[in-house]
Amino acid sequence: MSRYSAFRLFLNGLTGHASWPRAWRNPEPRSSYDVVIVGGGGHGLAAAYYLAKEHGIANVAVVEKGPIGLGNTGRNTTIVRSNYMFPQNHRFYEWSLKLWEGLEQDLNFNAMVSQRGVLGLFHSDGQRQIFARRGNWMRLSGIDAELLDRDQVRAIVPQLDFDNARFPIMGGLLQRRGGTVRHDAVAWGYARAADRRGVDIIQHCEVTGIRIVANRVAGVETTRGFIGAKKIGLAVAGNTSHLAAMVGLRLPIESHVLQAFVSEGLKPFVDCVVTFGAGHFYISQSDKGGLVFGGNIDGYNSYAQRGNLPAMEHVWTAGVALMPALSRVRVLRQWGGVMDMTMDGSPLICRTPVEGLYLDGGWCYGGFKATPAAGWCHAHTIANDAPHALNSHFTIDRFRQGLTIDERGAGPNPWLQ
Ligand SMILES: Cc1cc2nc3c(=O)[nH]c(=O)nc-3n(C[C@H](O)[C@H](O)[C@H](O)COP(=O)(O)OP(=O)(O)OC[C@H]3O[C@@H](n4cnc5c(N)ncnc54)[C@H](O)[C@@H]3O)c2cc1C
Repeated sequence: MSRYSAFRLFLNGLTGHASWPRAWRNPEPRSSYDVVIVGGGGHGLAAAYYLAKEHGIANVAVVEKGPIGLGNTGRNTTIVRSNYMFPQNHRFYEWSLKLWEGLEQDLNFNAMVSQRGVLGLFHSDGQRQIFARRGNWMRLSGIDAELLDRDQVRAIVPQLDFDNARFPIMGGLLQRRGGTVRHDAVAWGYARAADRRGVDIIQHCEVTGIRIVANRVAGVETTRGFIGAKKIGLAVAGNTSHLAAMVGLRLPIESHVLQAFVSEGLKPFVDCVVTFGAGHFYISQSDKGGLVFGGNIDGYNSYAQRGNLPAMEHVWTAGVALMPALSRVRVLRQWGGVMDMTMDGSPLICRTPVEGLYLDGGWCYGGFKATPAAGWCHAHTIANDAPHALNSHFTIDRFRQGLTIDERGAGPNPWLQ
C-alpha cells in the first residue's frame, strides 16, 4: 500500500485521481483470530491498530455491523481536550491528547488535528472557584490550563453576550492545546493503518451472540457465520449493554440520545471551541464554515439515532443566550448518536468476569477525544490480560466498591442523569 505524500497527491492529480489504491482491503472473515474486536468505530479500529503496532498481535479482526465510522465516531462534534478535574481522568485524556498530537505522522493520514483551544466559560464567583480548582489540578499534572478574566475572554471571543442579565460572563478556563479533529478521518486513518499491519476489517457483519465455553470466550456468532476468537474486545459505544447482555453481564450504563447541529456556512466567526458554563451549549466552527454545536443528552433512554424537538429548542435557546447573533443563523443539519452513559461520567476499559472478554465503553458525551488512548489502553489490557496504569481505575468493580470517579459531580445516581 502506498504512503500518502504531497508528491503522490500531485502525481495522482495528473491522472484524475483514478489510480489511488484502496485504503483498506475488504476481506472475507477467517474461521478464527487471536483477537476479535467488535465495533468498527474509532475505538475498535484504534485498539486493533495498537494491538498490531505495540504488541505484535496482528491476527486480529474488527467486526462492524455497518460501514466503519458511522456510529458515534462519525456523529460527534469533534472536540478533543484533556481538561478533566480528577487525575484518573485527566492523566488518561492527556495521554490521548499527546497521541492526537502525533497521530497524523503515526498513521500517515490527514486527520485535520486543529489545536485551536477549548474555552469553558464561568458566570459566577462560585463557578470561578470550581474552574480554578480544575485548572490547578490539571497544572499539577503538567497539563496546560489558563484561567482568563472577562477581558481576556472578550479578546478571544468578542461576540459573546458578556452582560447577559442572568448569565454574565466573568471569565473562562482555556486549554490552548485542545481543539478539534476531523472525526471520520480518524476512523479511516486507523482503518488504513491497521489494515496495513495485517488486521482484517470486516464490515457489514453484525455480532449476534458471543460463544462461551467453560466461562471463556470461544468466538462470536455473526450474520456472516461463527468466527472463533481467543480474546474478544467490545467497543460498541451505545450498544455496550446489548453486547454485554449476550454474556449475561449487567453494566452500570444507560443509553441516551445526544444530538448535534450544523449551521449554514459562515465567514470566520469563532476560532476556538467555546462551552457555556450556565447552560447546555458548546460551539465551534468547521473548516467549511458551518457552526457545529450541541448540548445535553435527550432525557430518556433510547437506541434511536435521532432526537426530539424539545432538546433542540433547549440547545438553541442556550446558544442564543450566549451568542445573540446566532438567532440570525440557519441550521442546516441535525442528527443524533447513542451515548453509553455511566453513572459517574467516567469510562470502562477493563477485563470482565468472562475470561477473554474485554470492555471499552461508558464514554458518555466525551469518547471521541479518548479514541487514541482508549484504543491504546484497550489493546494493552487485551495483550497483557491486565490494565495499564492509565486505565486501571476504569473498572466495572468501582461501582461495587464505591470507588466511583465522579467527574460529573452528580454522584452515582442514575436519576440525576
Ligand atoms: C452528537 C454527539 C456529539 C459528540 N461530541 C463529542 C465531542 O465533541 N468530543 C468527544 O470527545 N466526544 C463526543 N461525542 C462522543 C463520541 O462520539 C463517542 O464517545 C465516541 O465516538 C465513541 O467511539 P466508539 O468507537 O466507541 O463508538 P462508535 O463510533 O459508535 O462505534 C461503535 C461501533 O460498533 C458497531 N456495533 C454496534 N453493535 C454491533 C454489533 N452487534 N456487531 C458489530 N458491530 C456493532 C456500531 O455500528 C458502531 O460503528 C459525541 C457523541 C455524539 C453522538
